[in-house]
Amino acid sequence: MAAKLIDGKAAALEMRARIASEVSRFREVTGRAPGLAVVLVGEHPPSAAYVRSKVKATLEAGMESFEHRLPGSVTQDELIALIDQLNDDPAVDGILVQLPLPEQVDERVIITRISPDKDVDGFHPVNAGRLAIGLHGFVPCTPLGCLILLQQQLGELSGLDAIVVGRSNIVGKPMALLLLRANCTVTIAHSRTRDLPGAVRRADIVVAAVGRPELIRGDWLKPGATVIDVGQERIEQPDGTRKLVGDVAFDEALEVAGAITPVPGGVGPMTIACLIRNTFVSAARRESFAYEKSL
Ligand code: NAP
Repeated sequence: MAAKLIDGKAAALEMRARIASEVSRFREVTGRAPGLAVVLVGEHPPSAAYVRSKVKATLEAGMESFEHRLPGSVTQDELIALIDQLNDDPAVDGILVQLPLPEQVDERVIITRISPDKDVDGFHPVNAGRLAIGLHGFVPCTPLGCLILLQQQLGELSGLDAIVVGRSNIVGKPMALLLLRANCTVTIAHSRTRDLPGAVRRADIVVAAVGRPELIRGDWLKPGATVIDVGQERIEQPDGTRKLVGDVAFDEALEVAGAITPVPGGVGPMTIACLIRNTFVSAARRESFAYEKSL
Protein backbone atom coordinates (compact mmCIF):
# COMPACT_ATOMS: atom_id res chain seq x y z
CA MET A 1 0.00 0.00 0.00
CA ALA A 2 1.37 3.43 -0.90
CA ALA A 3 2.24 5.71 1.99
CA LYS A 4 0.38 8.96 2.53
CA LEU A 5 2.28 12.00 1.27
CA ILE A 6 2.86 14.64 3.93
CA ASP A 7 2.30 17.91 2.08
CA GLY A 8 4.79 20.32 3.64
CA LYS A 9 4.03 22.98 1.07
CA ALA A 10 0.35 23.12 2.01
CA ALA A 11 1.13 22.99 5.75
CA ALA A 12 3.63 25.84 5.34
CA LEU A 13 1.18 28.01 3.38
CA GLU A 14 -1.49 27.47 6.01
CA MET A 15 0.96 28.36 8.80
CA ARG A 16 2.17 31.47 6.97
CA ALA A 17 -1.43 32.63 6.49
CA ARG A 18 -2.10 32.27 10.24
CA ILE A 19 1.06 34.22 11.05
CA ALA A 20 0.12 36.94 8.55
CA SER A 21 -3.19 37.42 10.32
CA GLU A 22 -1.42 37.70 13.71
CA VAL A 23 1.07 40.14 12.14
CA SER A 24 -1.76 42.34 10.98
CA ARG A 25 -3.16 42.46 14.55
CA PHE A 26 0.36 43.17 15.85
CA ARG A 27 0.74 46.11 13.44
CA GLU A 28 -2.60 47.58 14.51
CA VAL A 29 -1.74 47.36 18.20
CA THR A 30 1.95 48.35 18.14
CA GLY A 31 2.02 50.63 15.08
CA ARG A 32 4.99 48.81 13.58
CA ALA A 33 5.75 45.65 11.65
CA PRO A 34 7.96 42.80 12.91
CA GLY A 35 11.34 43.06 11.16
CA LEU A 36 13.78 40.40 9.97
CA ALA A 37 17.36 41.32 9.03
CA VAL A 38 19.02 38.90 6.63
CA VAL A 39 22.77 38.99 6.09
CA LEU A 40 24.18 37.41 2.93
CA VAL A 41 27.94 37.27 2.44
CA GLY A 42 29.59 36.61 -0.92
CA GLU A 43 28.35 34.98 -4.10
CA HIS A 44 26.98 31.54 -3.29
CA PRO A 45 24.04 30.83 -5.62
CA PRO A 46 22.18 28.38 -3.31
CA SER A 47 22.50 30.85 -0.37
CA ALA A 48 21.25 33.70 -2.58
CA ALA A 49 18.24 31.55 -3.56
CA TYR A 50 17.45 30.70 0.09
CA VAL A 51 17.69 34.38 1.02
CA ARG A 52 15.32 35.36 -1.83
CA SER A 53 12.71 32.85 -0.59
CA LYS A 54 13.09 34.07 3.00
CA VAL A 55 12.73 37.73 2.03
CA LYS A 56 9.67 36.95 -0.11
CA ALA A 57 8.00 35.03 2.73
CA THR A 58 8.82 37.82 5.20
CA LEU A 59 7.18 40.47 3.02
CA GLU A 60 4.17 38.26 2.25
CA ALA A 61 3.56 37.89 5.99
CA GLY A 62 3.36 41.68 6.30
CA MET A 63 6.76 41.98 7.99
CA GLU A 64 9.68 44.23 7.19
CA SER A 65 12.77 42.79 5.58
CA PHE A 66 16.21 44.37 5.98
CA GLU A 67 18.68 42.87 3.54
CA HIS A 68 22.43 43.25 4.00
CA ARG A 69 24.65 41.97 1.21
CA LEU A 70 28.36 41.97 1.93
CA PRO A 71 31.26 41.01 -0.36
CA GLY A 72 32.96 37.64 0.10
CA SER A 73 36.08 39.55 1.18
CA VAL A 74 34.35 40.96 4.29
CA THR A 75 36.41 40.77 7.48
CA GLN A 76 35.18 39.20 10.69
CA ASP A 77 35.36 42.60 12.42
CA GLU A 78 33.17 44.21 9.74
CA LEU A 79 30.59 41.46 10.13
CA ILE A 80 30.68 41.79 13.92
CA ALA A 81 30.10 45.55 13.56
CA LEU A 82 27.01 44.89 11.43
CA ILE A 83 25.66 42.32 13.93
CA ASP A 84 26.16 44.80 16.80
CA GLN A 85 24.27 47.45 14.83
CA LEU A 86 21.38 45.04 14.16
CA ASN A 87 21.34 43.90 17.82
CA ASP A 88 20.81 47.56 18.81
CA ASP A 89 18.24 48.40 16.11
CA PRO A 90 14.74 48.45 17.66
CA ALA A 91 13.11 47.81 14.24
CA VAL A 92 14.93 44.48 13.96
CA ASP A 93 13.30 41.56 15.79
CA GLY A 94 15.19 38.74 14.12
CA ILE A 95 18.70 38.40 12.69
CA LEU A 96 19.61 35.68 10.25
CA VAL A 97 23.14 35.26 8.93
CA GLN A 98 22.98 32.94 5.94
CA LEU A 99 25.56 30.14 6.24
CA PRO A 100 28.11 29.15 5.04
CA LEU A 101 30.42 32.10 5.67
CA PRO A 102 33.78 32.63 3.93
CA GLU A 103 36.75 30.95 5.56
CA GLN A 104 38.27 34.15 7.02
CA VAL A 105 35.16 34.45 9.24
CA ASP A 106 34.61 32.11 12.19
CA GLU A 107 30.94 31.06 12.05
CA ARG A 108 30.87 30.36 15.79
CA VAL A 109 32.02 33.89 16.61
CA ILE A 110 29.29 35.39 14.42
CA ILE A 111 26.51 33.11 15.69
CA THR A 112 27.48 33.86 19.28
CA ARG A 113 27.53 37.60 18.62
CA ILE A 114 23.82 37.69 17.65
CA SER A 115 21.64 38.62 20.62
CA PRO A 116 19.99 35.36 21.82
CA ASP A 117 16.71 37.29 21.89
CA LYS A 118 16.97 38.06 18.16
CA ASP A 119 18.44 34.68 17.20
CA VAL A 120 15.49 33.46 15.12
CA ASP A 121 17.61 30.66 13.63
CA GLY A 122 18.04 29.26 17.15
CA PHE A 123 21.75 28.54 16.62
CA HIS A 124 23.12 30.62 19.54
CA PRO A 125 24.52 28.45 22.38
CA VAL A 126 22.08 30.13 24.80
CA ASN A 127 19.12 28.98 22.71
CA ALA A 128 20.66 25.52 22.23
CA GLY A 129 20.99 25.36 26.04
CA ARG A 130 17.44 26.56 26.59
CA LEU A 131 16.15 23.78 24.33
CA ALA A 132 18.31 21.21 26.11
CA ILE A 133 16.95 22.07 29.57
CA GLY A 134 13.38 22.83 28.54
CA LEU A 135 13.27 26.63 28.73
CA HIS A 136 11.56 28.94 26.24
CA GLY A 137 13.91 30.07 23.50
CA PHE A 138 14.25 29.94 19.75
CA VAL A 139 14.27 26.46 18.24
CA PRO A 140 16.07 25.96 14.90
CA CYS A 141 13.57 26.26 12.04
CA THR A 142 14.10 22.96 10.21
CA PRO A 143 13.60 20.62 13.21
CA LEU A 144 10.71 22.77 14.44
CA GLY A 145 9.05 22.37 11.03
CA CYS A 146 9.62 18.60 11.16
CA LEU A 147 8.03 18.39 14.61
CA ILE A 148 4.98 20.33 13.45
CA LEU A 149 4.55 18.00 10.45
CA LEU A 150 4.84 14.96 12.75
CA GLN A 151 2.28 16.33 15.19
CA GLN A 152 -0.13 17.15 12.37
CA GLN A 153 0.30 13.65 10.96
CA LEU A 154 0.30 11.58 14.17
CA GLY A 155 -1.28 13.77 16.84
CA GLU A 156 0.18 12.65 20.17
CA LEU A 157 3.79 11.46 19.83
CA SER A 158 4.19 10.29 23.43
CA GLY A 159 5.70 6.81 23.79
CA LEU A 160 6.62 6.38 20.12
CA ASP A 161 10.06 5.11 19.09
CA ALA A 162 11.86 7.75 17.03
CA ILE A 163 15.20 7.71 15.28
CA VAL A 164 17.04 10.79 14.07
CA VAL A 165 19.74 9.95 11.56
CA GLY A 166 22.30 12.78 11.70
CA ARG A 167 23.59 14.76 14.69
CA SER A 168 24.34 18.22 13.34
CA ASN A 169 23.82 21.19 15.64
CA ILE A 170 21.29 22.73 13.25
CA VAL A 171 19.09 19.71 12.50
CA GLY A 172 19.86 16.34 14.14
CA LYS A 173 20.56 17.34 17.75
CA PRO A 174 17.71 19.86 18.16
CA MET A 175 15.36 17.41 16.39
CA ALA A 176 16.24 14.69 18.90
CA LEU A 177 15.65 17.11 21.80
CA LEU A 178 12.26 18.16 20.42
CA LEU A 179 11.19 14.52 20.06
CA LEU A 180 12.40 13.82 23.59
CA ARG A 181 10.40 16.81 24.83
CA ALA A 182 7.37 15.26 23.07
CA ASN A 183 8.02 12.08 25.10
CA CYS A 184 9.31 9.89 22.30
CA THR A 185 11.98 7.29 22.98
CA VAL A 186 14.77 8.70 20.86
CA THR A 187 17.74 7.11 19.12
CA ILE A 188 20.34 9.38 17.52
CA ALA A 189 22.26 7.68 14.70
CA HIS A 190 25.35 8.98 12.89
CA SER A 191 28.23 7.89 10.69
CA ARG A 192 29.63 5.55 13.38
CA THR A 193 26.34 3.79 14.13
CA ARG A 194 27.01 0.07 13.74
CA ASP A 195 23.72 -1.31 12.48
CA LEU A 196 21.84 1.59 10.95
CA PRO A 197 19.24 -0.53 9.10
CA GLY A 198 18.50 -2.41 12.36
CA ALA A 199 18.14 0.81 14.33
CA VAL A 200 15.87 2.38 11.69
CA ARG A 201 13.72 -0.77 11.59
CA ARG A 202 12.71 -0.34 15.26
CA ALA A 203 11.40 3.21 14.77
CA ASP A 204 7.82 4.44 14.43
CA ILE A 205 9.24 7.84 13.40
CA VAL A 206 12.28 8.23 11.15
CA VAL A 207 13.83 11.66 10.65
CA ALA A 208 16.64 11.57 8.10
CA ALA A 209 19.07 14.50 8.18
CA VAL A 210 22.22 13.11 6.66
CA GLY A 211 22.96 14.67 3.28
CA ARG A 212 23.59 11.26 1.61
CA PRO A 213 21.17 10.80 -1.29
CA GLU A 214 18.81 7.85 -0.81
CA LEU A 215 20.92 6.31 1.99
CA ILE A 216 17.86 4.96 3.82
CA ARG A 217 16.26 2.14 1.88
CA GLY A 218 12.64 1.03 1.87
CA ASP A 219 13.42 -2.35 3.43
CA TRP A 220 15.04 -0.65 6.44
CA LEU A 221 11.68 0.79 7.48
CA LYS A 222 9.18 -0.60 9.94
CA PRO A 223 5.88 -1.04 8.04
CA GLY A 224 3.65 1.96 8.68
CA ALA A 225 6.49 4.21 9.96
CA THR A 226 6.25 7.97 9.51
CA VAL A 227 9.24 9.26 7.58
CA ILE A 228 10.47 12.86 7.55
CA ASP A 229 13.18 13.41 4.95
CA VAL A 230 15.25 16.52 5.66
CA GLY A 231 17.95 15.73 3.11
CA GLN A 232 18.13 17.76 -0.04
CA GLU A 233 20.94 17.05 -2.43
CA ARG A 234 21.19 17.62 -6.17
CA ILE A 235 22.26 14.52 -8.07
CA GLU A 236 23.07 14.18 -11.73
CA GLN A 237 20.80 11.86 -13.69
CA PRO A 238 21.82 9.65 -16.65
CA ASP A 239 20.54 12.30 -19.11
CA GLY A 240 22.78 14.96 -17.51
CA THR A 241 19.96 16.88 -15.81
CA ARG A 242 20.08 17.45 -12.07
CA LYS A 243 17.40 16.31 -9.65
CA LEU A 244 16.76 17.19 -6.00
CA VAL A 245 16.63 14.05 -3.84
CA GLY A 246 16.39 13.31 -0.15
CA ASP A 247 18.17 10.93 2.22
CA VAL A 248 15.46 8.30 1.79
CA ALA A 249 14.94 6.11 -1.30
CA PHE A 250 11.51 7.62 -1.88
CA ASP A 251 9.95 5.10 -4.30
CA GLU A 252 10.96 2.16 -2.09
CA ALA A 253 9.82 3.91 1.10
CA LEU A 254 6.41 4.66 -0.43
CA GLU A 255 5.68 0.92 -0.43
CA VAL A 256 6.45 0.43 3.27
CA ALA A 257 5.97 3.68 5.20
CA GLY A 258 2.65 4.90 6.57
CA ALA A 259 3.41 8.51 5.64
CA ILE A 260 6.39 10.30 4.12
CA THR A 261 7.50 13.81 3.17
CA PRO A 262 8.45 14.27 -0.49
CA VAL A 263 11.61 16.07 -1.61
CA PRO A 264 11.01 18.77 -2.69
CA GLY A 265 7.74 19.92 -1.13
CA GLY A 266 8.16 18.42 2.34
CA VAL A 267 10.46 19.86 4.98
CA GLY A 268 11.91 22.77 2.94
CA PRO A 269 8.77 24.98 2.88
CA MET A 270 8.21 24.37 6.61
CA THR A 271 11.71 25.67 7.40
CA ILE A 272 10.80 29.05 5.93
CA ALA A 273 7.39 29.11 7.62
CA CYS A 274 9.10 28.48 10.98
CA LEU A 275 11.56 31.31 10.36
CA ILE A 276 8.61 33.64 9.83
CA ARG A 277 7.02 32.24 12.98
CA ASN A 278 10.16 32.75 15.06
CA THR A 279 10.49 36.34 13.82
CA PHE A 280 6.89 37.09 14.72
CA VAL A 281 7.30 35.46 18.14
CA SER A 282 10.43 37.54 18.75
CA ALA A 283 8.55 40.75 17.92
CA ALA A 284 5.62 39.69 20.09
CA ARG A 285 7.91 38.97 23.07
CA ARG A 286 9.73 42.27 22.68
CA GLU A 287 6.42 44.20 22.61
CA SER A 288 4.68 42.02 25.25
CA PHE A 289 2.03 41.31 22.60
CA ALA A 290 -0.30 38.41 23.41
CA TYR A 291 -0.38 36.02 20.44
CA GLU A 292 -1.99 32.76 19.42
CA LYS A 293 0.23 30.24 21.26
CA SER A 294 -0.58 27.41 18.85
CA LEU A 295 1.34 29.21 16.08
P1 NAP B 1 25.70 17.73 8.35
O1 NAP B 1 26.06 18.83 9.27
O2 NAP B 1 26.64 17.36 7.24
O3 NAP B 1 25.41 16.43 9.24
C1 NAP B 1 25.19 15.20 8.63
C2 NAP B 1 25.02 14.15 9.70
O4 NAP B 1 24.80 12.90 9.04
C3 NAP B 1 26.25 13.97 10.60
O5 NAP B 1 25.85 13.88 11.94
C4 NAP B 1 26.87 12.66 10.11
O6 NAP B 1 27.45 11.88 11.13
C5 NAP B 1 25.66 11.91 9.60
N1 NAP B 1 26.03 10.94 8.58
C6 NAP B 1 26.81 11.12 7.51
N2 NAP B 1 26.93 9.97 6.80
C7 NAP B 1 26.22 9.05 7.46
C8 NAP B 1 25.97 7.69 7.24
N3 NAP B 1 26.47 7.03 6.20
N4 NAP B 1 25.18 7.03 8.12
C9 NAP B 1 24.65 7.68 9.20
N5 NAP B 1 24.85 8.99 9.45
C10 NAP B 1 25.64 9.66 8.60
O7 NAP B 1 24.31 17.99 7.64
P2 NAP B 1 23.02 18.89 8.07
O8 NAP B 1 23.37 20.33 7.99
O9 NAP B 1 22.40 18.35 9.30
O10 NAP B 1 22.06 18.57 6.83
C11 NAP B 1 21.65 17.25 6.52
C12 NAP B 1 20.82 17.28 5.24
O11 NAP B 1 19.67 18.08 5.47
C13 NAP B 1 21.52 17.90 4.02
O12 NAP B 1 21.08 17.22 2.85
C14 NAP B 1 21.01 19.32 4.00
O13 NAP B 1 21.02 19.88 2.70
C15 NAP B 1 19.60 19.10 4.47
N6 NAP B 1 18.97 20.29 5.10
C16 NAP B 1 17.74 20.62 4.67
C17 NAP B 1 17.08 21.69 5.24
C18 NAP B 1 15.71 22.04 4.77
O14 NAP B 1 15.20 23.10 5.06
N7 NAP B 1 15.02 21.13 4.06
C19 NAP B 1 17.70 22.44 6.24
C20 NAP B 1 18.95 22.05 6.71
C21 NAP B 1 19.58 20.95 6.12
P3 NAP B 1 28.78 12.32 11.95
O15 NAP B 1 28.30 13.36 12.93
O16 NAP B 1 29.22 11.08 12.58
O17 NAP B 1 29.72 12.88 10.94
